[in-house]
Amino acid sequence: MAAAAVKGKFVVVGGGIAGVTCAEQLSLQFPADVVYLLTAAPFVKAVTNIKQVSRTLEEFDVEQQTSSALQSQYPNIKVVHSAVKELKADDQVLITEDGTYYSYEQLCVCAGARPRLIVEENPYVLGIRDTDSARMFQQHLTKARRVLVVGNGGIALELVYEMEGCEVVWAIKDKSIGNTFFDAGAAEFLIPQLNSEKPQTPLTCKRMKYTTERGAGQEDSWLGSALGPDWHEGMNLKACQEISRCVHIEAECEVQRILLHQDFKALNIPSLPVARGMKDGATSDWPVYAELTNGKIYGCDFIVSATGVFPNVEAFVSGNNFDLGEDGGLRVDDHMRTSVKNVYAAGDVCTVGWTPSPHWQQMRLWTQARQMGWYAAKCMAADRLDEAIEMDFCFELFAHVTKFFNYKVILLGKYNAQGLGTNHELLLRCTKGREYVKVVMQNGRMMGAVLIGETDLEETFENLILNQMDLSAYGEDLLDPNVDIEDYFD
Ligand code: FAD
Repeated sequence: MAAAAVKGKFVVVGGGIAGVTCAEQLSLQFPADVVYLLTAAPFVKAVTNIKQVSRTLEEFDVEQQTSSALQSQYPNIKVVHSAVKELKADDQVLITEDGTYYSYEQLCVCAGARPRLIVEENPYVLGIRDTDSARMFQQHLTKARRVLVVGNGGIALELVYEMEGCEVVWAIKDKSIGNTFFDAGAAEFLIPQLNSEKPQTPLTCKRMKYTTERGAGQEDSWLGSALGPDWHEGMNLKACQEISRCVHIEAECEVQRILLHQDFKALNIPSLPVARGMKDGATSDWPVYAELTNGKIYGCDFIVSATGVFPNVEAFVSGNNFDLGEDGGLRVDDHMRTSVKNVYAAGDVCTVGWTPSPHWQQMRLWTQARQMGWYAAKCMAADRLDEAIEMDFCFELFAHVTKFFNYKVILLGKYNAQGLGTNHELLLRCTKGREYVKVVMQNGRMMGAVLIGETDLEETFENLILNQMDLSAYGEDLLDPNVDIEDYFD
């Protein structure tokens, strides 16, 4: 080990929600010790205004902070802005880009994840991850006539709804939109919103507005923190055409190949105009073309690849013996420990390796980043003090609140019957334009739910999933709008 190593008991890598939460918690538990927070990004993320919506559902704001703001609140946190380039796990040492060595007694890796692009290093293919990439996307959009969005997760859903003033071709590999979050029924409920005028003022939003202004010293890289909730609020997502929204969905297909203008010209075949009477620009005058697996070719100004993320593990795994999950994350046990001694991991970079509760699953979301960061710090403390620690209650029930297409969306438990096979039934209640309620039942017990709109059912359903009460006797009355089930079960 280099003699000049900075010695730390606790080192946390990553200034995103997971890393900052972990460092804050360690700082509170060990006020006499320095907690080093090493991060590649020029800012750190802070969680504020936590609002407990119900026992497991929580909402909070995410703020981009300077390191001095964090350090003045937690004087024993020392933020270092230098990316980790190597981990020597046998020596318990990290080496940063600026050549400094940091030795640790306990390390928590919270390095997040980066977009998995359909092709790398193509200037017309953009991913959105952090403020820098969001700014790049916004710049491209101002001049765009048509954008191809590839992917069907939360980012694609938000983008397609928010973009205005250009044609949008949305290529999804599933049968229906938003497959990560919804089934076909919920998708049908939401689709009319895509063709309606957007409300002038967004629904009340007290969360942080992200700015895409460049911070001093900010560099283009995939190592920035992931954006948080409402990342597009305050960003102008308007292109230059005189149209509000024009979305064309291509379902059950993927991008087969991407052709630059000259390659496409050489093929001498027509590209497609977008449906519903939109003009095709100067027919084949597009800088880039995408051939889909259904044989169709669309020209566009640029492509947004929103096809999931890949955990940022490279700097840590090389030369070390980490167990990795199938998705490439650092596998952690029920104490957030990786397979390497004294190394813990939390947030998007990790893959859960414990047997989850029947109503919880890992998803790379900001709520889970915060919960894992907090719990990892508690586990590090418990291991250090040789104390026992129970798995935190937040891992009992998957609970996520968000907003899609201007509707409040709450997802609980196995909301899409994940892992339940065919042994389940669905109960549905839908009022067009107002609410969509879906409940997943198995053997008379509630396993999960999707609540779209102001349903006010979240607390009752959360309880019913957690207590696994036998609801067989109620049958379909469970969702009868004339039955006040809150009175029954609360
Ligand atoms: P990150 O926030 O990615 O932070 C990782 C940190 O590690 C960064 O500070 C980075 O600089 C640092 N780092 C990386 N590599 C190194 C290294 N080698 N050395 C030092 N530092 C390093 N989730 C939701 O729940 N709801 C949403 O609506 C939502 N919308 C999203 C929209 C977008 C556009 C994106 C990209 C994500 C969205 N997410 C959303 C996901 C959510 O943002 C992430 O799950 C969450 O932020 C992960 O937090 P994290 O701390 O694990 O990682």
